[in-house]
Amino acid sequence: MTASSELILKLHNYFSDRQSQIEAFIAELVSQESPSGDIEGSRAVVDILATAAKGLRCVTEIERVEVPDFGEHVVIRAFHNQPAGDRIMLVGHTDTVHARGSLAQRPVRIEANRMYGPGTFDMKANCVLAIEILRSFDELGMTPRNGVTLVLTCDEEVGSYSGWPLMEEIAKNEHPKAAFVMEPPGSGGPENRHAPGRPVGPRTAPGDAGRAFRLGRC
Ligand SMILES: [Zn+2]
Repeated sequence: MTASSELILKLHNYFSDRQSQIEAFIAELVSQESPSGDIEGSRAVVDILATAAKGLRCVTEIERVEVPDFGEHVVIRAFHNQPAGDRIMLVGHTDTVHARGSLAQRPVRIEANRMYGPGTFDMKANCVLAIEILRSFDELGMTPRNGVTLVLTCDEEVGSYSGWPLMEEIAKNEHPKAAFVMEPPGSGGPENRHAPGRPVGPRTAPGDAGRAFRLGRC
C-alpha cells in the first residue's frame, strides 16, 4: 500500500499531538519493572497494556496466557474480521534484562529529546507504540487491509522457551501473511543481522516468527 501525502500528514499531526500522552504511557510501563521471571512485574505490565487495549474499538480479543513461575504472555487481536490469510503478526516482549531496583538508580527521564529508563529501548516503548498505532486507527476512523495479532511474550530475554511455542501455535492457526519483529535496532542500524522491523516473510511458515523473535537483539 502506498500512503498518500495527505494520509502521511494526517498521521504525522495525530502522533505529534499525542506525543506527551505516548511518553506518559511509556513512562508508566517502564515504571513497572519486569525482569524475566518476575511474576508480579510481568502481570503489572500486562495489566497496563491490556487496560489500554481494552479501551480500543478495533481490539476484538485480549488473551492473557499464564506462564507458571514466570508471568504472563499477552495476545491482542484487532481487526480480526479480516479474512484469516490477510492477517499480520506483530511480535514483541514485555520482559527486560534489568534487575528489579534498576529503576531507582536510573529513573525514567527525558534528556536531549531522548527517553531513558530500564527497558525503554528494549522494548517497552515499542509495546506502547503497537497499542498507539491501533489507537490511531480508532481515532482517525481507518481500517487497515490486514487484521493484526500483537503477541507480547514474557520470557524473550531468557530464551523464549514458552513464548516461542506460543508464537508457533498462533502462526500455525492464523496463517498470517507476514510477521514483524518489533525489536529495536542496535548501533548497526536496521541492516544488522537481526534486521528488526523486517517482515519475517510472506506466508510465514509456522515457527519462523518465533525463530526470528528469539534471535532478536536484546
Ligand atoms: Zn528485546
